[in-house]
Amino acid sequence: MVGSENTNNSDFDLVVIGGGINGAAVARDAVGRGMRVALFERGDYAGQTSSSSSKLIHGGLRYLESYEFSLVRGSLKERDVMMSLAPHLVQPVRFLVPVYAHSRRPWWLLRLGLYLYDFLASSHKIARSGSLSRPEIEAIPHLKKSGLKAVMHYVDCQVDDARLVISTLLDARARGADINSHHEVTGIDPLPDGYRVTVQNKSGSRDVEARYIVNTAGPFANELLDRVSGPLPKKDLRLVRGSHLLFKMPEPALTTAFTLQNDDGRVIFVIPWQEGRFIMVGTTDALQEGNPADPDCSDEERDYLLAAFNTYFEYQGQTATIDDIVWSWAGVRPLVDDGADDPSKVTRGVRIIKTRQGKGGFISVYGGKLTTHRLLGLKVMKKLASLGAKLGPAWTSEAPIYGGGLDRKALEELAENGPGILAAAIRHRLVFTYGDIAAKMFEDAVSIPASAAEIAPGIPEIELRHARDFEDAVTAEDFLYRRTKLFLTLDDNGITAIEKWFSS
Ligand SMILES: Cc1cc2nc3c(=O)[nH]c(=O)nc-3n(C[C@H](O)[C@H](O)[C@H](O)COP(=O)(O)OP(=O)(O)OC[C@H]3O[C@@H](n4cnc5c(N)ncnc54)[C@H](O)[C@@H]3O)c2cc1C
Repeated sequence: MVGSENTNNSDFDLVVIGGGINGAAVARDAVGRGMRVALFERGDYAGQTSSSSSKLIHGGLRYLESYEFSLVRGSLKERDVMMSLAPHLVQPVRFLVPVYAHSRRPWWLLRLGLYLYDFLASSHKIARSGSLSRPEIEAIPHLKKSGLKAVMHYVDCQVDDARLVISTLLDARARGADINSHHEVTGIDPLPDGYRVTVQNKSGSRDVEARYIVNTAGPFANELLDRVSGPLPKKDLRLVRGSHLLFKMPEPALTTAFTLQNDDGRVIFVIPWQEGRFIMVGTTDALQEGNPADPDCSDEERDYLLAAFNTYFEYQGQTATIDDIVWSWAGVRPLVDDGADDPSKVTRGVRIIKTRQGKGGFISVYGGKLTTHRLLGLKVMKKLASLGAKLGPAWTSEAPIYGGGLDRKALEELAENGPGILAAAIRHRLVFTYGDIAAKMFEDAVSIPASAAEIAPGIPEIELRHARDFEDAVTAEDFLYRRTKLFLTLDDNGITAIEKWFSS
């Protein structure tokens, strides 16, 4: 095993700190290259930024305006890769871009941008962009048509962000990584050839030794560095909050997403979500002044998004109000401060800094995107190699993540042909949540019929057992907010039943 050459007497070759998407990507890549890896997350997996995103696997059309061509190209290429590695979680969604007489960007500029987007993607998996015909435009429900000059279309992908993190971590665990939630790193002491890491959980504290540390604490990257005895280099972070609003899907349903140009030049997304039951509207770019662990959509952001939505849409035949908002969420982007005045112009690129420590070393990761987490893993592996780590060859470009072994057609068949003891809608949801792992749940439901019983409407016990026993869900919230988004559709009795199950 390559990793054994890294260790000396250390417990691990590598300790990864932070169980968001970046930590998950690093742990998975490293364990697959033979390193002995532990990951510590102080809360639940994906409990911070990685469950609060816009949930897109995309190139980032708007970044073309800031000439971030290589970021956009890398992201678009990765979009194709993610479609094959996680087909149960990543799916194409069509976006419409309406252009009005008053729009800041003329139609020809947008057309050019979309040509460039197609060109940078050079994808065989995703349809090219184009323009809608007049009858097609007239048929779009809810969109205001007065002054509407043209509507372009293009395709990007949507993902369940928290599940992407959890599935990546489960994959790392299946390959031998020691993955831990509710373990906070409280101190790091340099050793001659690596570090001693103090980890605290509810039963107490313990020390582990590792040659290499990777700090993927996201918005808390610098806070973590303050826990290291001895100085390590830091980057100045700009904590930029992005908020979203959620509405019930109006009738008739919107079947596409929208990229809207707001009057101030910002881009707002309107995206169908949860099998078309809801639409999300976001996002803002506001500086996060308070604790990044607890970001909230401010009244100002809420009003801004409501106004933007109402500029373009009629909601249920009228103007959407605060009362129509069923949920809102906010996340904090840990962006490297490049001096840009406007938070939306701060680079979305990633920065990685390394420090040698004898035969070991410390790496801090700043920034990044959900879309390019696998590429970030590759970059961190290069840095580890430059610090002397012995690593096997790159392997992640073709290995599906946990649950990702079947393509969408095969997943549909799995759901269709699953056991009748589970209702068709439940089979479908399980398959497009857990991927091919649902096959095992189906087998168990047949062999132990009691486990197919619904603890709350649409939620069989077998799913709760899987969440608790294999996905480290400790509370009803872990299950309802991150393993799934079932809190959105369950009534109070249903939520109480799940809480009761987890506390029994
Ligand atoms: C509003 C918004 C929308 C976005 N939309 C998109 C999008 O559509 N597509 C896209 O590609 N990207 C998007 N992004 C970017 C993407 O979500 C982030 O880049 C990514 O989630 C960052 O992941 P991370 O692992 O660095 O951070 P996090 O997910 O925040 O993970 C860091 C983890 O470290 C843990 N931690 C901190 N300190 C310690 C400690 N001492 N011990 C143990 N654990 C610790 C934290 O608890 C946390 O879970 C969006 C970001 C935001 C904010």
